[in-house]
Amino acid sequence: MSGVGDQSLEQACEAFVDWLDRRVVAAGRGDGLSRLEVAPSGTFWLGRLACEDEVRKDAPDDRSERLDPCAIAIRLRPAAAPPWSMTVIVRARAWVKDPKDGPDPDRRWWRTDLVEEVVSVLVSGEGETFGGKQLRDAFAAVGAPGLSAEVRVDVEDWHRQTEVVVQLVNTSPEKAPGLTDSHLYETQLEVSGLPTVPFELEALPDSFRYDRKVPAYGVNVGVEVVAPGVFRTSDTVGVQTYRPDYWSGAAPQPDLSFTRLASDPLPQLQALVDALDAYDHIHWSSTALDARQVAEGWTLTMRAKADESAEQVFEELNRLRAGLTLLGDRPEILRSFRLMNKAIARSAEGRGYTTWRPFQVGFLLSAIRFLAEPEDEARYVDTVWFATGGGKTETYLGLLLTAAFFDRLTGKALGVTAWSRFPLRLLSLQQTQRFADALAGAEMVRQEEGVKGAPFSLGFLVGRAGTPNKIVPKTETDEITPDSPGMPDKYRVLLHCPFCRDENLQMRFDRQRWKLDHRCTNRSCPWKGQALPMYVVDQEVFRFLPTVVVGTLDKAASIGLQQAMRGLVGAPQKLCPVEWHGFTYAERSKSPNGCLVPDCQGGKALRPLPMDAKRFGPSLRLQDELHLLRDSLGAVDSHYESLLDHLQFELCGTRAKIVASSATLTGYEHQTKVLYQREGRVFPQPGPRAGESFWTTPTEKPLRRFVAVAPRGVTLEHVSDRTLDALQRCVRQLKDDPATVCAEAGIDRKYVDTLVSLYGTDVVYGSTLYDVEAAGRSLGSNNTVEGINVEQLTGQTEFDDVRAILDRLEKPEEDFAERIHVVAASSMLSHGVDVDRLNTMVMLGLPLTTAEFIQTTARVGRRHPGLVYVLHKIGRERDAQTFRQFTQYVRQGDRFVDAIPITRRSRRVLDLTVAGVVGARTLMIREPASKQRLSTPAKLRQYARDSGMTPAAEAAAVAKVLGLDGAEDSLHREQIADWLQAWFADLEDPATKATFVSELGPRSPMTSLRDVEASAPIHD
Ligand SMILES: [Zn+2]
Ligand SMILES: [Zn+2]
Repeated sequence: MSGVGDQSLEQACEAFVDWLDRRVVAAGRGDGLSRLEVAPSGTFWLGRLACEDEVRKDAPDDRSERLDPCAIAIRLRPAAAPPWSMTVIVRARAWVKDPKDGPDPDRRWWRTDLVEEVVSVLVSGEGETFGGKQLRDAFAAVGAPGLSAEVRVDVEDWHRQTEVVVQLVNTSPEKAPGLTDSHLYETQLEVSGLPTVPFELEALPDSFRYDRKVPAYGVNVGVEVVAPGVFRTSDTVGVQTYRPDYWSGAAPQPDLSFTRLASDPLPQLQALVDALDAYDHIHWSSTALDARQVAEGWTLTMRAKADESAEQVFEELNRLRAGLTLLGDRPEILRSFRLMNKAIARSAEGRGYTTWRPFQVGFLLSAIRFLAEPEDEARYVDTVWFATGGGKTETYLGLLLTAAFFDRLTGKALGVTAWSRFPLRLLSLQQTQRFADALAGAEMVRQEEGVKGAPFSLGFLVGRAGTPNKIVPKTETDEITPDSPGMPDKYRVLLHCPFCRDENLQMRFDRQRWKLDHRCTNRSCPWKGQALPMYVVDQEVFRFLPTVVVGTLDKAASIGLQQAMRGLVGAPQKLCPVEWHGFTYAERSKSPNGCLVPDCQGGKALRPLPMDAKRFGPSLRLQDELHLLRDSLGAVDSHYESLLDHLQFELCGTRAKIVASSATLTGYEHQTKVLYQREGRVFPQPGPRAGESFWTTPTEKPLRRFVAVAPRGVTLEHVSDRTLDALQRCVRQLKDDPATVCAEAGIDRKYVDTLVSLYGTDVVYGSTLYDVEAAGRSLGSNNTVEGINVEQLTGQTEFDDVRAILDRLEKPEEDFAERIHVVAASSMLSHGVDVDRLNTMVMLGLPLTTAEFIQTTARVGRRHPGLVYVLHKIGRERDAQTFRQFTQYVRQGDRFVDAIPITRRSRRVLDLTVAGVVGARTLMIREPASKQRLSTPAKLRQYARDSGMTPAAEAAAVAKVLGLDGAEDSLHREQIADWLQAWFADLEDPATKATFVSELGPRSPMTSLRDVEASAPIHD
């Protein structure tokens, strides 16, 4: 290779990935070896073919044949009627075992020379076989007598268009004198000379965006078109994707830097909208669509779909225009937007980015109207749809800070602006840190600009495993006290100080203020050693109502049980007069004045709220990873979302705007309707062609190489071990013998250390915990490379271990031998783990959903070319199907995303959620309105009598809250009525065993939204 001297790092990575892949495939096939100690049939997983007799005998079905096939084939569509003539080239090798007294007794297996035979084929119109004798002779000639194979051509004329399947079949006998291994190795089939027409992928609604032509299909292999009309099998199916560019307008990209938008945004935003306008007219006008319809032969249905998309595209353009107009007309919105930019500029300082990507600004413009018209805009759920890694979190943060500044500028001096939820139990620390950084930037700007109100702050509200619900002075149960083991360090959430980035944070429990603090020890920190504005204990979140609360979705269940959750949907009661005690809620025996600090001495003389109670309701609810809200979790959440809406509306007369992000597009309208009872809107609209839109356009820069592997004859675990083994061996060879590897791979020596770091840690990903643990375990015992350090990253990994592992990944040890070499991870990895050093992945079987596939693989190759081995569990029908169309699967992934199964009409789920609705209505609405305590059955009983509460009225109210008040919901209403009858009967019973209101009725409110069995199917 020439020109290595002026090679860029990017080119070096590309060359190294090429080399790695060649080496892994070679390890799978056995290329380049001459002798082996162990049987090749227990070692190699690519290119091998079992003999037909054995396969047919042991495995009469398709499934087993895929696991250990005896044939590979190319499926083609002849362009003309028979007879068909073609040239078929067969390549293969054999492995032969020497007798005990052979030349190398330790390594008795040897590999034959290559058999390469040209077989002439002429097919009359019925199936025939060719080349049997020729191939048998060829094997005998290289020293493997007894082996045989043939080219078998099947003609399938029952399809709409006739198809021929050209197969290479291993016809060797299972056993024969002198035959030591009946497998063929390194097999390959090449067909040429037959004029063909392409297959057409099944038409789908928006197929006008896609190239649907597939030249040929492989059976048990991939097919490459190596020259026009020349089809060759490949053992793996490689698909290269390319890094996008974020600007495709004809005009130069406007200056969307944070500083520019902080000072003078309007001209730049105008230029952005004008460019989008021009693009949309070029690509989506009826003239443009007419032309494509003719040129690409669209059907009427395809055209209708294109027209529909065009309409949505122009609606989106109008929304951006409206956003721009608002910024021009409303000074407080413009100021909020500018201050947000200033804050983001500050929080991004020193991180190598200074500017927005156009789509991020596009989304902000399209969504900003909710500040001006909150009621009208609350009717829509705005979903950011973007390939992960595209800067989704920053987009969120932009919107969030704009809303936070807008709140301060319009009189909301304190309280929660946004509640941001993640669907997983364990919220990513990196993600949380980014929120903290952005808010710290905003706080500095708030101070500088003299914006009135409380400091901006962040709350961390997660379910069960995580941070404490509360801290008690002493306990006999498992509650946390200031002296509990691990306190306070165990609950450190921030990775660094959001104000100065210093990593030397100190955890401290402040007994006087009763607060668990993060403190920065850097003397020059602008926050000057005070407790950072970060609240990680649930009760502190309620006491201080931070500007933004991040947390996991399951925490929403607390709304039915925990009265202080009221601060997330409306106003608290009052303020405690003791400094740092914060807001108060309803009185309880342990908090006689409603203050949540244990043994508060503040007395009953509470201070009034410093702000209109109606303004406490949050402006925004954010939902990350919307596509994960499906099945039972989606069904349960749909009820709780309605409950949150209901409570906020009752308490504040407002509805929060819901903004979501999703990795997939399929069925978002239905999903948002079910989940939130609102209309769905997605940004950005997909472009005129797959992978190409105004907001993204592909470049030549490699992003990820996906390699599909269908393991043959050995277990998936074996293949995963060997693949990781090969990857580790390669990187160690680069480190130990750079001269040879650099020459072989075409790499400039100066990049060696960087490449060792960028490709020295492999991820092995399993969708189940079982797979992940097995992969971690077996790697230790089943490899040729010594000293592979494996770490696990799953939902079971302890909080502080996650932090330590992330830290080691980001800042690897100086000595390679001490580094983490393999991370065995589950889906936990796919949520916000952003480490630029993760660039190779081995995936154990296809994940359950395409969304998970897209999201998980996005964790590697974030900045540098990535390499992903997708090991198919080829016995499973779905994996087999995907292997057949792997190229399309990768390139058109979003089309393969199955519609999201979700309903709010599951009666089983209703049975679980009614209690929470009734509980929340009692705690959040009735109790404060009654001006008395309703915490015990006796008190509530009296209140129910006095206020004339009836089962029928409450049942009707619950049905309405849950949106089950339609004509088709009579069964659901009956179920709710029955439930409330039982609840009232309990309430009215003076001998009830219930001590607390939450114990009344057939069941208590859920404590986590995950209390429903995740695996059980959910039906209407
Ligand atoms: Zn600091
Ligand atoms: Zn107090």
